[in-house]
Amino acid sequence: MILIDGKKEAAELRERLKKEVSELKSKYNKVPGLTVILIGDMAPSQIYVRMKEKAANEAGLKSEVVRYPDSIEEKKVLDKINELNKDDSVSGILVQLPLPKHIDKQKVIEAILPSKDVDGFHPMNVGNLSSGYESLVPCTPLGCYLLIKKIEPNLNGKKAVIVGRSNLNGKPMTQLLLKENCTVTITHSKTKDLKSECLQGDIIVAAVGMPELIKGDWVKKDAIVIDVGINKTDKGIIGDVAFDEVSKVAKALTPVPGGVGPMTIACLLKNTIKCFKRSQKN
Ligand code: NAP
Repeated sequence: MILIDGKKEAAELRERLKKEVSELKSKYNKVPGLTVILIGDMAPSQIYVRMKEKAANEAGLKSEVVRYPDSIEEKKVLDKINELNKDDSVSGILVQLPLPKHIDKQKVIEAILPSKDVDGFHPMNVGNLSSGYESLVPCTPLGCYLLIKKIEPNLNGKKAVIVGRSNLNGKPMTQLLLKENCTVTITHSKTKDLKSECLQGDIIVAAVGMPELIKGDWVKKDAIVIDVGINKTDKGIIGDVAFDEVSKVAKALTPVPGGVGPMTIACLLKNTIKCFKRSQKN
């Protein structure tokens, strides 16, 4: 069984991106800029933002974090996004989710210029992705896609089963694999017989948030299994896939932690650089 080392893949990708940033700096005399807006003091968001900021700095990007208290008015956040939209030194804008209840998430997402939407959540980017056009793709599914392609470069005709249909993970993952000519089944909490659906998959991507939902006897021999789940349990952080059981049947499997997570951050840098390059005139 191939243990897909997301940490190593992400480190290699970040190294390549760092080199690219240095080449861009020589060519344009400026570097891509990432601005993250962080509202409130929720511990996981603070940790994610710190990791993103560190990764951006290490790659040589210009990185900025705008921090607001939980009580910030929605209008102030929208005004800030507007200001960043107009700022040429800002290539990518990310608003860390979740947001306090009084702030309309969709309004905030739609306020970001689609060309600076490094999370790929703006309806314009979602629409482009689902139409098979060039777009900014959400970082976690993009990371999963790169890991799958590393194991299996030709996905033509493969059966892919996506577990979970969120806008963040399951839906964009479906679009990415459709574009690669996979036959994709997307499953969710109302799916009648999840085990038999999973058993069809040459590729399974689990993005649910339920510890060890996907069992060993749900997985076809030699399937590629990507575990997006992050679940805090008494045993520590574990994924949506029963790792010990599934590792006995799968051809390749991502661990949790150390699988998809590190790729998410690397893909954020990749998207920021993509925004920068698209914004240059030559
Ligand atoms: P989400 O928005 O809560 O969506 C979960 C999806 O799972 C929903 O579509 C839900 O179906 C489906 N589901 C729930 N119970 C199910 C069941 N018993 N059988 C089949 N499907 C079921 O979650 P998310 O934001 O996509 O995140 C999913 C997991 O990925 C979480 O553990 C999250 O922490 C993790 N995550 C990891 C990364 C990373 O970088 N590694 C990034 C983002 C998220 P319905 O639509 O029917 O409700």
